[in-house]
Amino acid sequence: MSWVKVICILCPRGCHLRVNPETYFVTGNQCPDGPEYAKKELQRPVRTVTATVTVNGGRFSRLPVKTEYPVNKDLIPDIMAALKNVVVSPPLNVGDVVVADIAGSGVNIVATRKLK
Ligand code: SF4
Repeated sequence: MSWVKVICILCPRGCHLRVNPETYFVTGNQCPDGPEYAKKELQRPVRTVTATVTVNGGRFSRLPVKTEYPVNKDLIPDIMAALKNVVVSPPLNVGDVVVADIAGSGVNIVATRKLK
C-alpha cells in the first residue's frame, strides 16, 4: 500500500497531507478539517471553476464568471471549452446566470462582477 499525497486547500496553511487510500487515515493535518477534505479529494474531487467570458459592448471587454457550485474535476475541460464561445451583453449583476447547465454539468455559470 502506498500513501497518497494531498495538499489541503481549505485554508492558507496548505497542509501537505498523506492519506492511506484504503482506510483514509490521514497525517500532516494541522486541524480536524484536513482528513475530511482528503477523503473527499480521493473519492470525488471538486472545484469551483473561475474564468472570464467575452463582453459585447459596455466598458469592459471581459466579464469574470464562476460556477455556481463546485463541480467534479473531470468536467473542467468541457466547461472551459464551452466558455470560450460565450458572449454576454450588459447589463448584468453579480450572481446573474450567464450560462445555464454549462456543458451538461447541471451547474450554472454566474457573473462575479456587475456589468453596466
Ligand atoms: S488541514 Fe486544516 S489547517 Fe491544514 S490546510 Fe487544511 S484546513 Fe488548513
